[in-house]
Amino acid sequence: MKCVLSLLLLIPFLAGAAPKNIIVMIPDGTGHASLTAARHVKGEPLTLDTAIYGVIETRSADNSVTDSAAAATAMACGERTYNGAVGVNSKRIPLRSISEWAKAEGKSVGIVTTDAITGATPGGFSAHVVSRSNASEILEQQIASGFDVFLGGGAKTLTDPLKQFMREKGYTLVTTKTEMQQADGKIFGLFSPGIMTAKVTLRDGKGSTEPTLPEMAAKALDVLTSNPNGFFLMIEGAQVDKGNHESDLPWATFELLEFDTVVKQILDWASAHPDTIVLIAPDHETGGLTLLNEPYEGARQKAICSVTDKGVGKPGDYFVHYSTTWHTGVDVFLAGNNPTCKPTRNCDMIGALAELSAETLPELQGKTIKEQGVYWLETADGKRLRAQRDAIFVKPTGKWYQR
Ligand SMILES: [Zn+2]
Repeated sequence: MKCVLSLLLLIPFLAGAAPKNIIVMIPDGTGHASLTAARHVKGEPLTLDTAIYGVIETRSADNSVTDSAAAATAMACGERTYNGAVGVNSKRIPLRSISEWAKAEGKSVGIVTTDAITGATPGGFSAHVVSRSNASEILEQQIASGFDVFLGGGAKTLTDPLKQFMREKGYTLVTTKTEMQQADGKIFGLFSPGIMTAKVTLRDGKGSTEPTLPEMAAKALDVLTSNPNGFFLMIEGAQVDKGNHESDLPWATFELLEFDTVVKQILDWASAHPDTIVLIAPDHETGGLTLLNEPYEGARQKAICSVTDKGVGKPGDYFVHYSTTWHTGVDVFLAGNNPTCKPTRNCDMIGALAELSAETLPELQGKTIKEQGVYWLETADGKRLRAQRDAIFVKPTGKWYQR
């Protein structure tokens, strides 16, 4: 499905100078009720409140309720796909992402998340695999991408051969905040085995070697701004989703408040650099969160907790009910620094930013060979390309694609 509506909407924007820097921010699993809860806990308006100007429909190609992989693919590549797909369409053909478009334009690229770096959202912006569970393939493609900044969790997927590959590709591997802050040049940060430690557990980071989301965002800007051609940066606040999946509002709320501070940090930076466009949208709502003024008497009695659990918020203001431990299909908000950029569907976002519309990667021809578990493509001119490093290999279809 081509998503061209946004191109029409964007004509006034494109008529001016195209933005040099593009920043996409995704608070994963954040619905409107999460915003209300965070505002309530903070006791004053969020930065997001000042930046919201639209709504986004989130469904995927095969489901009225999207998962994060299909949503990230739609947002990064401009085409809706099946739940679980990372950077490929419903026919399992790899789609060119805005990150790849930016790199081809000579821009720097950064991917920042509090999830594992191989998670569905960062994956949709940096890899092409048929299933989000293929973490090691995602990591290998991320290293092969040559993007400038990767910061997040997920160190358990890093094997010795992948470490070696990282060195060959010129990355400095960092595993602590201090190492991250001291590193120069292309950087790959893996700060925890899986997802990063929750803000609610960290208690402002005391005793942790992991950087916070604001610290990772600052480092990413530091590295990316050295390129005179500009950059593309995706920042994901992954754990509003994780908290809401666990029916744990304090977890989700702490994460959203931290994400909101990064929104301020990024919008402030963008106002000092007017050639920057910032687009902020969740990929979907998680949990079917509702805020009530009396206890909910329905079937999911156990999910009820007060917003004051774990010491968050003022007592007695809301009773919290989660209707599901998964996602819902409701619309989410659209925010940013340029209200003329107003896509109405997740798959329109990238078209709105970069004139991209569901472009597929070029297919490669040759003979597929498997040696000691590794797939190679032998091309007609005798070249050998290794799967996921030199080219994208889609195992279920047996087809190869140029990165
Ligand atoms: Zn998600």
